[in-house]
Amino acid sequence: MKRYKTKYDVIIIGSGLGGLQSAYMLGEAGYSVCVLEKNRQTGGNLQTFVRDKAIFDTGVHYLGGLDEGQNLYQFFKYFGLMDKLKLRKMDSTFDYITFDNDDTRYGHAQTYPAFIESLSEQFPGERDNIKKYTEGILAACKAFPLYNLEDKDPLEDEETFFKYLSIGAKDFIDATTQNPKLRNVLAGSNPLYAGVANKTPLYSHALTINTYIESSYRCVDGGSQICKILTKKIREFGGEILKYKDVKKLVFENGTLTKAETAEGEQFEAKYFISNIHPHLTLDLLKEHKIRKSYTRRIRSLKNSAACFNLHLVLKKDTFKYLNHNIYHYNNNDVWRYTKYTLNEWPDAYMISTPAISKSLEHADCLTMLAYMRFDEVEKWAGTFNTVANENSRGEDYEEFKRIKAEKCIRELEKHFPNIRSCIKSIHTTTPLSFRDYIGTSDGSMYGIIKDYNAPLRSFISPKTKVENLFLTGQNLNMHGILGVSVGAIMTCSELLGRSNILNNIKRAQ
Ligand SMILES: Cc1cc2nc3c(=O)[nH]c(=O)nc-3n(C[C@H](O)[C@H](O)[C@H](O)COP(=O)(O)OP(=O)(O)OC[C@H]3O[C@@H](n4cnc5c(N)ncnc54)[C@H](O)[C@@H]3O)c2cc1C
Repeated sequence: MKRYKTKYDVIIIGSGLGGLQSAYMLGEAGYSVCVLEKNRQTGGNLQTFVRDKAIFDTGVHYLGGLDEGQNLYQFFKYFGLMDKLKLRKMDSTFDYITFDNDDTRYGHAQTYPAFIESLSEQFPGERDNIKKYTEGILAACKAFPLYNLEDKDPLEDEETFFKYLSIGAKDFIDATTQNPKLRNVLAGSNPLYAGVANKTPLYSHALTINTYIESSYRCVDGGSQICKILTKKIREFGGEILKYKDVKKLVFENGTLTKAETAEGEQFEAKYFISNIHPHLTLDLLKEHKIRKSYTRRIRSLKNSAACFNLHLVLKKDTFKYLNHNIYHYNNNDVWRYTKYTLNEWPDAYMISTPAISKSLEHADCLTMLAYMRFDEVEKWAGTFNTVANENSRGEDYEEFKRIKAEKCIRELEKHFPNIRSCIKSIHTTTPLSFRDYIGTSDGSMYGIIKDYNAPLRSFISPKTKVENLFLTGQNLNMHGILGVSVGAIMTCSELLGRSNILNNIKRAQ
């Protein structure tokens, strides 16, 4: 006997942040909602995993904009997260950008005055340019009303909006200063948005970096708490979240979308459907149902952002000091080099982070290093599938590939922490295949569809689809990241609830 209904107002496919936030907003508004998740664990990139008692994040290393009065703070207040999340504010300098053959650690500091001051000390003579850069970032952020909780259509000021969709991040940074090192430092947290020199729009850079300059926090004991808190509230609103429900097909009756069908043939009926999965996968679910060719062609032609390799080290107790900041390191002098590495050079760009834990303020129990990885490096094992921890199902040659990569990463880490090897208790890794299998994207892309300032409308995904009662949400919509996805979920739910209603609720949340 099933313990759940099979008929709802809204079915949401995927329990990533966007799916959960949509379920929350619609549940609160009185809709009966059901989230269908293919995996054993909900949350998508909010998931954490445990090795040797250490908690590792998959996709939440740090959060910006969480000081009172800032945008994510107010969104999280509304979602009932702000009072419950265990958070740790990061150091005043939250990100260090470092380079081979350069002993200086260049800092990105929280708050605009400190950001300008600290970089001006490191780049004497560049103060005006650094100020110009921050003014440009703030001006770009202003062009996106929802990001600022403003109940306004961005097209009210169409000229400004399109201007900011069409400026390249690299072009903007290069125009603010002629100093090559400063240019690299300003774009130094590039992996946060997988920036590509001739594609990434200024807004991807600006909306991201602005929140971290405003304030930077880590979740203590992992970002999956976001998922747990949202899940509890969704259930309080009467919503369901069902695991092991791999949606394979959207069913149409007399031309109307009526049901979502899982791999096991179970059908869930609803008036509305929201897909929190990649738009390519959403199109796959439509099977033989015909929608405008120009739409499918455009969506299918969109490329994904980079994938990554993660080295996860469990550290011996009290051997390694907790770093309350991240390090972005480059072995070359071009932070925009993206995935153009040769195999010998890899990893030539990476981020180092130690998760915040409640057990200790002083020491870290684990460390993560994230480096871009092209999917072609793991193509050989593309025919395998694994979402079971510790199961060596892709073969010994894959394990050997990961061991070699891990060793290369550890050698890089030794540049920063010469004694790191003696602190290691155990070594774990994930590749683009891990992300592909857990999240469902075809190539393990970190942030989904790549935004391109050369053709801003082509890579712009609307929450509306060509099927009247099917909507999209998640990181492919607006922007990736916890803040970007939150804004995207509001855009999606505005289609059913009205933007003003949602924004009023968010602004009123205390
Ligand atoms: C390595 C990495 C580091 C990151 N670091 C940060 C960070 O520090 N700060 C930050 O703000 N952001 C970070 N992000 C980005 C952020 O985590 C994501 O943008 C965000 O979590 C994506 O949410 P989403 O709603 O798009 O759902 P996703 O996380 O993409 O989840 C989609 C869900 O749908 C499920 N699904 C897929 N197919 C089906 C199907 N057919 N049927 C049912 N369910 C299905 C999946 O299993 C998954 O649970 C990082 C991302 C990555 C990959």
